[in-house]
Amino acid sequence: MRIHCPCCGPRGVAEFSYGGDGTIRRPDLSVTDTDAHVAYVFERENPRGPHVELWHHIGGCRHWLRVTRDTLTHEITSVEMAGRFAGEAAHIPGAGA
Ligand SMILES: [Zn+2]
Repeated sequence: MRIHCPCCGPRGVAEFSYGGDGTIRRPDLSVTDTDAHVAYVFERENPRGPHVELWHHIGGCRHWLRVTRDTLTHEITSVEMAGRFAGEAAHIPGAGA
């Protein structure tokens, strides 16, 4: 499987580390409902088909990426920057396009 990093271009999956479900949001630390924190840490879906995941380009630019991948075919339909660089790939030095 190859992931097209917005900064580095197409790279083998061995350069990346899987970061888990990209749709889960951490509860605000002021939330005192422990069930919300337990769900954030332990409860995950096991989807069949397209799924948004986080991948860390540890063997390259070290950016976090939001990847939409089909869990059946491994087809990747979109890759975008995650975290504070989300939507700003064109402004990162060395980014393609
Ligand atoms: Zn990269």
